[in-house]
Amino acid sequence: DAAREVLNIVVVGHVDHGKSTVIGRLLYDTKSLPEGAIERVKRISREKGKPFEYAYLLDAFEEEQKQGITIDTTQLQFRTAKRDYVIIDAPGHKEFLKNMISGAASAEAALLIIDANEGIQEQSRRHGYILSLLGIQKAYVLVNKMDLIDYSEDKFNEIRHDMNEFLNSLNVFPLKYIPVSAFYGENMVDRSAKMPWYKGEALLAAIDLFEKEKGLEGKPLRFPIQDVYKFDSRRIIAGRIEAGTLKAGDTVLITPSNKTTRVKTIEYWADRDKTDTVYAGMSVGITVEDEFFNQRGEFIVHPGAAPLVADTFKANLFWMGKTELVKNREYKLKLVTQEVQCEVYAISKVIDATTLAAVENAARVNTNDVAEVIIKTKRPISFDEFRNNQITGRFVLIDGYDVSGGGIVSGPVTEIQTVS
Ligand code: GDP
Repeated sequence: DAAREVLNIVVVGHVDHGKSTVIGRLLYDTKSLPEGAIERVKRISREKGKPFEYAYLLDAFEEEQKQGITIDTTQLQFRTAKRDYVIIDAPGHKEFLKNMISGAASAEAALLIIDANEGIQEQSRRHGYILSLLGIQKAYVLVNKMDLIDYSEDKFNEIRHDMNEFLNSLNVFPLKYIPVSAFYGENMVDRSAKMPWYKGEALLAAIDLFEKEKGLEGKPLRFPIQDVYKFDSRRIIAGRIEAGTLKAGDTVLITPSNKTTRVKTIEYWADRDKTDTVYAGMSVGITVEDEFFNQRGEFIVHPGAAPLVADTFKANLFWMGKTELVKNREYKLKLVTQEVQCEVYAISKVIDATTLAAVENAARVNTNDVAEVIIKTKRPISFDEFRNNQITGRFVLIDGYDVSGGGIVSGPVTEIQTVS
């Protein structure tokens, strides 16, 4: 089964609400544990003077890792008949946010865990906010430890109502709320007889219902120009197709300069077989009918499916500069092949990435903080919202010679001049 689908999931929740237990159970129930894992868990439980705990599975993995053996805890995997899952562990919010924003990790779906007995905590809200910040729309809320509240439907509904109201205010719309007891395995693999009032799927079946996003190939064409060079009498436009497909004869639009032309030939692609159609991921050279002065950085796209073009946009960024980020200072912004001077025009919110505490109206962004900002570039550039395209919706900021920040485009500022 070479081409099995893979879905990356992140599990978040207030400490002790049951994250490790949920993960441990998922691994156990899908028989995804390496040999000897259960024995180690039994030993760890014994050493701690506790009964067997699925939560110690993660400790067992960590122990292995410390001894330099095999498994990377940040890459726990399990599989169902439908596909493979990678659990992107978020050991610290800082690493998680940094990896997500920089593109080192990509969580496609999230499970947000709330302890039914403790209810919604500040940290639960902050995790909801992270989903919003990263534009993760595919999320389930697990109301865990239902055993501690006698599997009460009313209590479950109350938590669901309150959490939903809060999340919706952040533009996060969880697809499901699932009452579970991870410890006792209720509603984890099979529907629980203890909660007949719950008509939805058990967790594992529900996870299989997360829809995988279309790959980049199925998205609108994004062909950022890397170089234009003269080859005998022709001008060849070279670059990498980042999204979509491109055919000889296609009418194309070049943004931000807003010129329309047609693709005359596809001169080559990296493997140099003859082809008339090229796809996302290929490095290609093409010629077009009208020889404008095309420049590095511009996007070749299809009319009617153009990117946003503007000199201001909203972004969420992770700052890792040697010095703090300040407003009105010049940074260099790189977005695919575009490079332009920019400044941070406004800082709407700063979040300490370790504690997730928020600071309103901050004047600066410290190293390892996350911020919601408005960026203003020296000239208009082409881009997409991150939730629509994870490549043309991501950028880095350079301070002097150092990559000092990574950001994702969260949206346009006001009316954006879209070219189509
Ligand atoms: P984490 O800090 O979010 O990873 O939480 P853990 O998975 O370590 O769980 C914290 C504690 O809650 C452990 O003692 C678990 O055994 C317990 N726990 C987890 N899930 C349940 C549950 O469904 N019911 C009950 N009663 N306890 C649970």
